[in-house]
Amino acid sequence: MIAEVIVDIASGETDRIYDYLCGDETQAGSRVRVPFGGKVVPGFVMRLKETSDCPTEKLKRAFPCPDERPALNTECLALAGKLAARYRVPMALCLRLFLPSEMRAGKVRELKKNYASLLVPLSEMKLSRTAKNQIGAAEYLEKNGKTECGFLNGLFPGGVSALEKKGYVSVAKEQILRDPYKGMESASAEHVLTADQRAAVEKIKSDGRTVQLLHGVTGSGKTEIYLTLIAECLKEGKSSIFLVPEISLTPQMLSQLRARFGRNAAIMHSGLSAGEKFDEWWRMRSGEAKIAIGARSAVFSPLENLGVIIVDEEHDSSYSSETAPRYNTFDVAYLRAKHNGCKLVLGSATPAVDTYKRAVDGEFNLIRLDKRINQKPLPEITIADMRREVRRGNNSAFSSVLKDELGKCLSEGNQAILFLNRRGYSQTVICKECGYVAKCEACDVSLTYHKDEDCLKCHYCGAKYRVPTVCPDCGGHKLSYAGTGTQRIVADLQKLYPSAKILRMDNDTTSGKEGHYKILKAFGEKRADILVGTQMIAKGHDFPSVTLVGILDADMSLHFSDYRSGERTFQLITQVAGRSGRAEEKGRVVLQTFSPENDVLRYAVAYDYEGFYRNEISLRAATMFPPFSKIVRVLVTGEDNKKTVEALRNVYFSLERLYTENAEKFLFFNKMHAPIKRIQNKFRYQVLMRLADTSVLPSVYDACAAARTRDVLVSVEENPTNLS
Ligand code: ADP
Ligand code: ZN
Repeated sequence: MIAEVIVDIASGETDRIYDYLCGDETQAGSRVRVPFGGKVVPGFVMRLKETSDCPTEKLKRAFPCPDERPALNTECLALAGKLAARYRVPMALCLRLFLPSEMRAGKVRELKKNYASLLVPLSEMKLSRTAKNQIGAAEYLEKNGKTECGFLNGLFPGGVSALEKKGYVSVAKEQILRDPYKGMESASAEHVLTADQRAAVEKIKSDGRTVQLLHGVTGSGKTEIYLTLIAECLKEGKSSIFLVPEISLTPQMLSQLRARFGRNAAIMHSGLSAGEKFDEWWRMRSGEAKIAIGARSAVFSPLENLGVIIVDEEHDSSYSSETAPRYNTFDVAYLRAKHNGCKLVLGSATPAVDTYKRAVDGEFNLIRLDKRINQKPLPEITIADMRREVRRGNNSAFSSVLKDELGKCLSEGNQAILFLNRRGYSQTVICKECGYVAKCEACDVSLTYHKDEDCLKCHYCGAKYRVPTVCPDCGGHKLSYAGTGTQRIVADLQKLYPSAKILRMDNDTTSGKEGHYKILKAFGEKRADILVGTQMIAKGHDFPSVTLVGILDADMSLHFSDYRSGERTFQLITQVAGRSGRAEEKGRVVLQTFSPENDVLRYAVAYDYEGFYRNEISLRAATMFPPFSKIVRVLVTGEDNKKTVEALRNVYFSLERLYTENAEKFLFFNKMHAPIKRIQNKFRYQVLMRLADTSVLPSVYDACAAARTRDVLVSVEENPTNLS
């Protein structure tokens, strides 16, 4: 047989099929090792065939890898091909997405241990009465069945091997799969669906469209709907993929899933060791586990016969990949849903504007859940006008309303969450007296302060502005560039409430395995009164004693220099507010802002998603931002400035030609420094485009693939979440 092999080298030059001779054990999807350019390199078998265009005597032989079955199934092979074509990246890069990194590195072997089983009942064994260890081991085996030898030897030294010699016991090596969730099961009850939930499940199943958008307010019981869909698939012998933002995989969530699906579920999260991830992956590939649960990379799970794919919190920015290939999880999920003829269910309380438009337009089926399960009203949101606080001489991070509410909350023995919208957000200039924010005259997005050049810049057109020293609107002098960090907030809070126990959760405190689980667990067990954190506390956690949520700086995301800042702000406020008053106590939310009359905030306070959407979509239409256009950034990065500039020149040259030939399809086109000129010693340049018509997109990808060199990365980002 002849195998068509893709060598596992991420380079454009080697991105083609090579023919090798192979044996019968080799199948499509098998991993092999092949002689290549004087070395032996790993590769993947894409297809088998009888003959090659190359004379047989010239073909080299591929060595099979000792996998129990091909690492990649046929669906994964097909999907990798589609992704490679869509994102114009080497096939090897796409194939890698489907494998656990450990498998490629070859580091982790399957863990095998010796297991003993009885061959003869104890009553029929002829054992001396003094052979205590043999008797002990035999008794144990009779009572408990097959047992790991190391464990038995600890209890009854030498017993098993003596029994084995006599032929009473057989010992065999078996692969044991690490079980990272051992002991995590809680007695979480399966709920009987409410009528609304049942109706939603039926609508999802009966509708003919592939994509189903479940728009349900926080606490409307979306999770239970997902779990029901998964359970029904399982009953029919079908598998499912359930994607969640990493941050939602809380201990509560894990134990709930474990209780519900046991070993049928493979749960992938960042806290697992490499070996544990490998085992979970293998359990799916071998068919033992039929449910994949995890963050975006779980969309590549090696499951077959999918019955449903679910994307929870579909608006979450973690669903787009920031490394090559920069795939969009939705696109991959959609391809898999189509391939399997199954439904793709998107769920959110605050769908992305783009997604919602497609639902409103009828492309996706829209299902609404307007009521919370417990019939409780959503917590009331009070706006605190920080301009007034400043005028009254309060320059602290806490408004008087928030201080009052905090005092009340703590004295009643309840818990509070204070949310600081800082991490990863660039600095903008804001007037603390009137709420003025510097904006780009051409693009109507907020400007970002750049310390190195001491100027303000628009990230969408590159325009530079002088930094004002007095507020252009009110003439005030209290211009602020930076928010306060979580550490400062905690220190200030401690002064205000000396006896309160305060926990901090941000990127600094959550490093390491289970970093944020520990903090959330401590807070959930009421070992602290106040939790201060960044957006990572906004999602998914259920703390029944939290009655107060404070959003300290709602403006920070509102004026983030991104066309989606309104959308992000609405999502964040809704989500954060959902943390308050989940159980018996009525919840309260205090939202601090310098622009209380802002439309987005007004809709958020009223929990009016529809109103927000109508407002936002008309804004986007007027300014021609997505979904009415597509923002495309070509990012050119490299360590050698000269080579990087050369690659930029090359790609710019072909893109410019594309632009002049198709000017009517472009709303904007220019090359410039990336907003951050150097990251990790790499020089960064970009060509920024806004396309009115995406028919030129494949040519953009082609131009980038052609300009890529060994030393310079040229990548394409579509509607990037982060323009830095
Ligand atoms: P969402 O994901 O829409 O925010 P959840 O799925 O977290 O909502 O559900 C909110 C709460 O309601 C959870 O505590 C959940 O256990 C509970 N719940 C969900 N469905 C039911 C039901 N059918 N009966 C009783 N309680 C339910
Ligand atoms: Zn601009």
